[in-house]
Amino acid sequence: MKRRDFFGSTLTAAAALALPRRDLFGAIYRPASNRPQDIEAVTGDGRSVTLAGKAIADLKARLRGQILLAGDTGYEDARQILNPSFDKYPALIAQVTGVADVRAAVDFARDNGGLLLAVKCGGHSASGQSTCDKGMMIDLSPFRDVRVDPIARRARVTGGSLLGSLDHETMAYDLVTPMGTVSHTGIGGLVTGGGFGRLARRYGLSVDNLVGVDVVTADGQFRRASAEENPDLFWGVRGGGGNFGIVTSFQFQLHPMQRQVLGGQILFPLARAKDVLSLYGEYAPRTPDELQLDCHIVQPPGGAPGVAGFGICWSGSPSGAEAALAPIRQLGRPIQDTVAPMDYVALQKSGDVSDPRAQGTYVKSGFIPSLPPQLVNAIVDRFEGNPARSTIMAFQQGGGAIGRVAPHATAFAQRDAQANMLCFVNWPSTADPTEHIAWIKQYWTGLEPFTHGFYVNDVEAEMTAATIRENYRANHDRLVQVKNRYDPKNLFRLNANVRPTV
Ligand code: FAD
Repeated sequence: MKRRDFFGSTLTAAAALALPRRDLFGAIYRPASNRPQDIEAVTGDGRSVTLAGKAIADLKARLRGQILLAGDTGYEDARQILNPSFDKYPALIAQVTGVADVRAAVDFARDNGGLLLAVKCGGHSASGQSTCDKGMMIDLSPFRDVRVDPIARRARVTGGSLLGSLDHETMAYDLVTPMGTVSHTGIGGLVTGGGFGRLARRYGLSVDNLVGVDVVTADGQFRRASAEENPDLFWGVRGGGGNFGIVTSFQFQLHPMQRQVLGGQILFPLARAKDVLSLYGEYAPRTPDELQLDCHIVQPPGGAPGVAGFGICWSGSPSGAEAALAPIRQLGRPIQDTVAPMDYVALQKSGDVSDPRAQGTYVKSGFIPSLPPQLVNAIVDRFEGNPARSTIMAFQQGGGAIGRVAPHATAFAQRDAQANMLCFVNWPSTADPTEHIAWIKQYWTGLEPFTHGFYVNDVEAEMTAATIRENYRANHDRLVQVKNRYDPKNLFRLNANVRPTV
């Protein structure tokens, strides 16, 4: 024992011996922190409630993770999500480390009047669904782990994990499952809503590759769900978002795939936007499954020249690449062509943002069944840059294996979409966004008539219950049945909400 440790422990022991026996026990076992004070909070249906300090202390004692209250170290960081426009202050944040913590936190939210409850995994919800004012946030970010079984070709991923860690671990065995295109996106939100990405036309949406999930439902119970066990819950979490509970573990099937793919961008001047979009409308529905062709038009801030072009991932054999890209080459000489052989994991990180919270964002989106000339004109003729923001139109490609799954096979109904069409404006988080948000709302009125429903992961805060109901199409009634069974009081409502009817 070191000299300082010896003196320290000797002095502690001497002080303890000077105390009566009852106080000695207390001196050793009394918790380090004081009991929290009572705090004001709100329920999901907007009522005010007081959370007793004793109840918060009891919850703290049940967790391996932490409870963070305003003023605690770590609270400021934990309350934030990717989009800084949502600057909200939950009454308390439970940072959970495993299933036991998730169960305790869900019990607390339910038993304290049905607290307004936000569930955060990667924090990418553009409309701020993963945070709230005066409610409770369950922050899954300490609950991250990926296990790959290369023999069975399965991966098991905990509910707070980010997709980059799954790509990293599976690719070590030349195995893969389709995920989104930005590596710091949460698997929890991405997968429960669908999961578009660079391999989706080849292997389906992320939800199509789930073989099972573990879920903590609103009653705090742990449930396994698969084709054999709780099949209604398994059906619902594949496209119904976070409506039914917190997924604590996802089990995915894996596919053999070579590490090296062909990836990059082919960009043209903004003046050629109509040619680019027209080609996309014509070619995207008939590309080979191994080609993921996303499309975008971008006007950067500060007056830099705008561009229109394609994001490309070719995951087939190298010999097939040129034929697949030939229609794009026919557009003529691009101003930039970065398409080259590259590591799939590196390509998956190529769109990551180094300082994500520096930019506020507002998104409008909808699925399109096709991209006809009238839509091309509507997009380009009214597209307007502004030096104070980035203005972006982007398309996530559908079709291929996504479209070969029946619309009722999972809760994800829009199997017939040619693409998810998105419009973004981004501005420095310190600037006033009023003008940019007004512009995008006005611009979108000309595009919305071409859309058929929306991607639940892009749900907007202002959407009405009727719009959401319509979006789930023929799957809505079955979703209500699943909701009635697993979340009858609508504890999980910050999402594209399925309203219970019991
Ligand atoms: P969070 O904000 O943490 O959570 C969003 C919602 O998901 C929560 O409100 C909750 O309802 C639910 N949720 C989270 N974790 C769980 C869980 N473990 N169990 C149950 N419910 C849970 N989408 C694509 O399909 N493909 C893409 O390539 C893609 N790229 C994107 C890139 C960026 C930069 C951004 C901002 C978004 C992108 N999206 C993409 C959209 C993305 O799918 C959604 O924003 C999704 O909600 C992100 O999940 P998250 O866990 O990061 O979000």
